[in-house]
Amino acid sequence: MAEVFTGGCQCGAVRYRVDGPVAHASICNCRMCQKALGNFIAPFAAFAGEVEWTRGRPSEFRSSQQVHRGFCANCGTPLTYRWGDHQPSLTIGSLDDPDAVMPTVELARDNRHPVFAHYGELVEEDIGGTDEERDILAILKSFQHPDRDTETWQPEEASHG
Ligand SMILES: [Zn+2]
Ligand SMILES: [Zn+2]
Repeated sequence: MAEVFTGGCQCGAVRYRVDGPVAHASICNCRMCQKALGNFIAPFAAFAGEVEWTRGRPSEFRSSQQVHRGFCANCGTPLTYRWGDHQPSLTIGSLDDPDAVMPTVELARDNRHPVFAHYGELVEEDIGGTDEERDILAILKSFQHPDRDTETWQPEEASHG
């Protein structure tokens, strides 16, 4: 039995599943990936199986002649990188269990953000470290889709973290 990977966007309008194993898992530092993900790096994984859209579908932006980048049109979560007619790679952060996939390849290292040379120097700051923040967190209601498949989903039903 192949390992099954599931995931989706932050709002839950787009959900997917794909059979493993992981075929290729990378982080890319290139400027196009930085822009597309609004991040320093883009972690993508390709899988042995075919990506199945179990709820909704991503919208796509054609970022170059060969590449389409998929995202949720409702909440903006970056979801896919698709080269031509190939199976799309999926953003590792959109998986229900991102820790299950370990990138083994780095791309465009010459554009690596300077922060990665200083990771050990970052000052750790707890979310909810002050009384004021704790009061806010106590009444905070998350609208993020949970990290599992759901039968139906209305964002306003979300109430658990
Ligand atoms: Zn969404
Ligand atoms: Zn890139």
